Amino acid sequence: MMQTIDTQPVPEWRKQAWSKLTMGGLQGVQEWDLLVIGGGITGAGILREAARRGLSACLIEQRDFAWGTSSRSSNMVHGGLRYLMAGSFSLTRDSLRERERLLREAPGLVQPLGFLFSGYKGRRPGRWSFRVLLTMYDLFARRWNHRFYPPHEYTMLAPHIMLTGLKGGAQCFDAVTDDARLVFRVIQEAKKDGALALNYVAADKLITKVDWVRGATVRDILTGETAEVRSKAVVNATGAWADRFRKQVGGGQDIRPLRGSHLIFPFWRLPVAQAIGMKHPADGRSVFLLPWEGATVVGSTDLDQDKDLDIEASITPKEVDYLLQIVHYQFPDLGIKRRDIISTYAGVRPVIGTGALDPSKEKREHSIWVERGLISVSGGKLTTFRLIALDALKRAARFIPSLTVEDKGEPVFREAHRKELHLQTLDCALQERLIGRYGLTAGEVAKCAREGELERIPGTNTLWVELRWASRAEAVVHLEDLLLRRTRLGVLLPQGGAAFFDRIRLICQKELGWDDDRWQHEAQAYKNLWQQYHSVP
Ligand SMILES: Cc1cc2nc3c(=O)[nH]c(=O)nc-3n(C[C@H](O)[C@H](O)[C@H](O)COP(=O)(O)OP(=O)(O)OC[C@H]3O[C@@H](n4cnc5c(N)ncnc54)[C@H](O)[C@@H]3O)c2cc1C
Repeated sequence: MMQTIDTQPVPEWRKQAWSKLTMGGLQGVQEWDLLVIGGGITGAGILREAARRGLSACLIEQRDFAWGTSSRSSNMVHGGLRYLMAGSFSLTRDSLRERERLLREAPGLVQPLGFLFSGYKGRRPGRWSFRVLLTMYDLFARRWNHRFYPPHEYTMLAPHIMLTGLKGGAQCFDAVTDDARLVFRVIQEAKKDGALALNYVAADKLITKVDWVRGATVRDILTGETAEVRSKAVVNATGAWADRFRKQVGGGQDIRPLRGSHLIFPFWRLPVAQAIGMKHPADGRSVFLLPWEGATVVGSTDLDQDKDLDIEASITPKEVDYLLQIVHYQFPDLGIKRRDIISTYAGVRPVIGTGALDPSKEKREHSIWVERGLISVSGGKLTTFRLIALDALKRAARFIPSLTVEDKGEPVFREAHRKELHLQTLDCALQERLIGRYGLTAGEVAKCAREGELERIPGTNTLWVELRWASRAEAVVHLEDLLLRRTRLGVLLPQGGAAFFDRIRLICQKELGWDDDRWQHEAQAYKNLWQQYHSVP
């Protein structure tokens, strides 16, 4: 179990949130309607849907929001052709409908992205099967969205691609996001409806009343303080960790943690205007290469994660070779080398194990268990978080008499109007980025910018002001929260952004209320962490 007791003073916002959470600590009589354990996209979605239904709901996360899998995905908001090929029709259909909804509701955070699939002589699926597949995909999405191109046109869309045996290719559209920001924005929406969300608070032991789960003992990771949080219902949304809590109520061991790793390259070194889906020459698995936040991401792998889940997942040298192999194979002329990789990251898929020999054959649907009143939810996708949330709340309704759960299709995100936010002086792309990421607070973000802070940080799409805003208003506890999740600079820039450290410090140190010692300490801890989990092994 992770244990970090900080000697630093606790900021006022945290003190207030902790006392609201615990409402009088061990003697507390007040009861929440719902306690959500886990601050990834699943927990965030449940909190959002609970708060909009008028429940008193709180969420706790043992590290930072989105620290788990939800900041380590491939960032695609998609139906997943591979799920369709595997016969997971309802998962594909639901994901595609949610993709359409997210594109409508959160432009600037969820952006349309072209996906290319090259056709080579003798490679499966052949053109006709692929045509059927893409037609089904579009029918599920209720949007005609694909085209086939002959080789000479296809190479204009995918320059540098291997030409030997190329018979042309297909293009369809899905979407891309910033997974950690998606989590954060969903939590913000829940907070606007009165929910409480607190990072660096772990749930330790479930509290039972007449043998039914009615809360949990929680521990502030920063101070070591503990308290009891009581609630009518408890949702265990701890993803890959879910079996731990299930064990406390006699549940089974169903999660098969699968590691997926990625490489990040500078865009100029591996330039792609759209995502490219590729079949790996070694095992025929699908691997994607996609433009993301000003860089190019290649991933992922799919391997059993045997390490303790509390140790951050990281890529192995073998996985680096595997991913480099497909880059060499698909882009032979670019001469990509190991030293071109800027950074790496790995996440653990909370997949429900069926004992399949090949990890990639395991189903990706979510599962829900209700055991002695504890509602555990795990598996599924980032894309379907809203549906997973509704499913979990339906089970919670049994314990919360006032709760009714009907999918009325209400938007996850409140609509933000550019005019009302006074963003007109910014160019359209900036307006969209700020609204997508910050919703109704986009105007405040722009307003807090000092000179030059509405410019992009070189090599990324991130604005300097995003650092200032996050430090001021987004519950940053450690430097890694700021550089790996509120912004993604830690994986988008070489050496985790070391070249910009002085300017980052200038903008953030005061906003964070840190003295020089604290800054030095955080910077060192961040550098160590980056070296261990995000460099090339
Ligand atoms: C490599 C990879 C690529 C992927 N790509 C995509 C994609 O492109 N598109 C897509 O839709 N999906 C994708 N997914 C799937 C998606 O990322 C996951 O389904 C989703 O992020 C799971 O979210 P979660 O909230 O259930 O889990 P998590 O994000 O892991 O959240 C669980 C949280 O619970 C916390 N927790 C654990 N124990 C405790 C405790 N005792 N107290 C408090 N908190 C606790 C953890 O710290 C963690 O933050 C991908 C997954 C992986 C691994």
